[in-house]
Amino acid sequence: MRSWPSPFIPDVPGRGPAVRVHDTGRGEVVTLNPGPVAGLYVCGITPYDATHLGHAATYVTFDVLGRALRDAGHEVRYVQNVTDVDDPLLARAVRDGVDWVHLADRETALFREDMTALGVIAPDHYLGVTESIDLIVADVEALLANGMAYAVAAPDASDPAGADVYLDISQRPGFGDLSGLTRAQMLTVFAERGGDPEREGKRDPLDPLLWRAERADEPSWGSASLGAGRPGWHIECTALAVRYLGMPFTVQGGGSDLIFPHHEMSAVQGCALTGTRPFAEVFVHQAMVAFEGEKMSKSKGNLVLVSTLRAAGVDPMAIRLALLARHYRTEWEWTHADLHRAQQRLAGWRTALSGNGGPSAQGVLAGIREHVADDLDTPGALAVVDAWASRALEHGGSDLGAPGLVARAIDRILGIRV
Ligand code: ZN
Repeated sequence: MRSWPSPFIPDVPGRGPAVRVHDTGRGEVVTLNPGPVAGLYVCGITPYDATHLGHAATYVTFDVLGRALRDAGHEVRYVQNVTDVDDPLLARAVRDGVDWVHLADRETALFREDMTALGVIAPDHYLGVTESIDLIVADVEALLANGMAYAVAAPDASDPAGADVYLDISQRPGFGDLSGLTRAQMLTVFAERGGDPEREGKRDPLDPLLWRAERADEPSWGSASLGAGRPGWHIECTALAVRYLGMPFTVQGGGSDLIFPHHEMSAVQGCALTGTRPFAEVFVHQAMVAFEGEKMSKSKGNLVLVSTLRAAGVDPMAIRLALLARHYRTEWEWTHADLHRAQQRLAGWRTALSGNGGPSAQGVLAGIREHVADDLDTPGALAVVDAWASRALEHGGSDLGAPGLVARAIDRILGIRV
């Protein structure tokens, strides 16, 4: 699938320190040690509504992580999916009386525009489910062949002989290690987030769907062995991560609402498929962004859209700065004041950086690097730039190279273009 044009990444002297991030599974901050190439997989959108600020926070956070890894001398291989066929997308298309393919194309195009505007580096592999069916079918076949998956008759399928396919989680040691949820909690969350614990014929209510036999009025793809149908949600990310990054890869990322079931399931499916562990070295999660008292979500309808702000003339760099002003692991509530503060900050930085010289930038680059490498402490990094900008605005300075160096540093590491 077409992604979007990546921004130019300026060079700065030296190299950033090793990057430390919080691993959800271990519950502590760990040092990434990926070797020459870091593999980054971040779960993409289900394109039935435009990019809201919760999404934007996720993709900006992992963009900063990718930038920090590059700055530390690693090559980054970045994979992202698009869930361009799934129950919520199909339900929205039916509700709105639009073709699901057109809906997905339209919203994916808008997402690409938002990512470009926000200065997010494009993935190396950006793939929709609909263009990865053969890969997914091969993986489901392999899981059936190695006894990790089983078929459940689906008499309501278009073909009455059709069957759905599930992973047998009872064979997966380590299931639950990522989320740390109790079984009762898992059952509740699974039902809330697209799971089907009530489905008759499953060996365990928590077994995840790998392949859904075709139902009336649902899109499907032919498979000689599985029959007509479509993939379950989690297997797309398993298949793409294993194919394009290999196991274990460095970081699995996404919003914290994906920890269970999505990341738990994609990980155990990957381990079942390859017979190796772990799926990813580290799991990193962006905290939810609220608006008007509730988590911002499509299903609740309380969205602040990046595209709406852009259409109103808001500088996307101010949106990005507003997101970077919050630490990725802290839940927060978006208010207009966040945007106002970011606009003022951006204006102040621009003024400070537009002078013929400024105060010494000694320590600014190192300060930004240290904060970002320390579990993506972007608020701390912004404070370093604020301090330099304040000195520049109050006292000026005679270091002719300072504004250029600071501008390149915030562009390279924070993705802020002034
Ligand atoms: Zn995913």
